[in-house]
Amino acid sequence: MKNNIADIEKEALDQISATDSKDALEQVSIRFLGRKGVLTGFLRNISSLPEDERPAAGKNANLLKIKLEKEIRTAEADLSARDAGPSAGIDVTLPGRPAVKGALHPITQVMDEICGIFMRLGFDVAEGPEVETDYYNFEALNIPKYHPARDMQDTFYVSDNIVLRTHTSGSQPRVMEKNEPPVRIISPGKVFRCDSDLTHTPMFHQVEGLMVDKDISFGDLKGVLTTFVHQFFDEETSLRFRPSFFPFTEPSAEVDIRCVMCRGKGCRVCSKTGWLEVLGSGMVHPAVFENVGYDTDKYTGFAFGIGIERMAMLKYGIDDIRKYFENDVRFLGQF
Ligand SMILES: [Zn+2]
Repeated sequence: MKNNIADIEKEALDQISATDSKDALEQVSIRFLGRKGVLTGFLRNISSLPEDERPAAGKNANLLKIKLEKEIRTAEADLSARDAGPSAGIDVTLPGRPAVKGALHPITQVMDEICGIFMRLGFDVAEGPEVETDYYNFEALNIPKYHPARDMQDTFYVSDNIVLRTHTSGSQPRVMEKNEPPVRIISPGKVFRCDSDLTHTPMFHQVEGLMVDKDISFGDLKGVLTTFVHQFFDEETSLRFRPSFFPFTEPSAEVDIRCVMCRGKGCRVCSKTGWLEVLGSGMVHPAVFENVGYDTDKYTGFAFGIGIERMAMLKYGIDDIRKYFENDVRFLGQF
């Protein structure tokens, strides 16, 4: 008989950790905890100990019994998991799940593409603030307070003189105030208007362009915009210029392109006309030059504004502008 509980514990634990099969574990269990086992024998012979040692020895032996039972259950569970192999939990032969890759929003992609075309034509990018003063958004561009032209661009007022910009045209006077001609800039960004339907959202994106130098004519305007349309759509896409009105250009023209859906035959997208309105343009109004201190006898220039959503809708054949802003990855993931 072993008299020392600590010796029994050490021996039992050594044997448990050395087993590598359930049968061997069963043998260890019988050897220590069985009816004729070491621990049982120790308890049976406890009366042979001196009387004052018996209570502590009995208590320790019972605690060891509980401990060994727990160790054996744990060892048995480990052996079960080992014997079950990969099929028990994780199948290490399965291919991994690919991480979902993000991508640029279609509006960002189209904006980058449009900016890229104009940058190759020698334009610099000039970004302005989205919260703009009434002066740069309207007055500097020849749209005085109470002028009816403001009705075309109803927006959100932060205060009487601070607005969410209705176009990125505010960059024009901002850049011209700081730079003498020649000026060649495009200004991309978010703009805001009180509009919401199938083809309008209260927030949308625009690229504004401005070119000022000596001897800039309407021919330069047509040349730049034709080059742009041919590069963005294709060489077959023809353009037409229709007289229009913008307060900051004179003369002004709306630019239509031959419908990219039906090639001019007439369809739902072009309302059977064969043409699609894609941008506004014109020669910079002398009043705008005077506001920034340019000599109107010396310099002329042109400006244009392109709606990004409109271009993206035509390029991808999307019929509802709101799809761009619903954040549905099933839609956005297609671009
Ligand atoms: Zn059409």
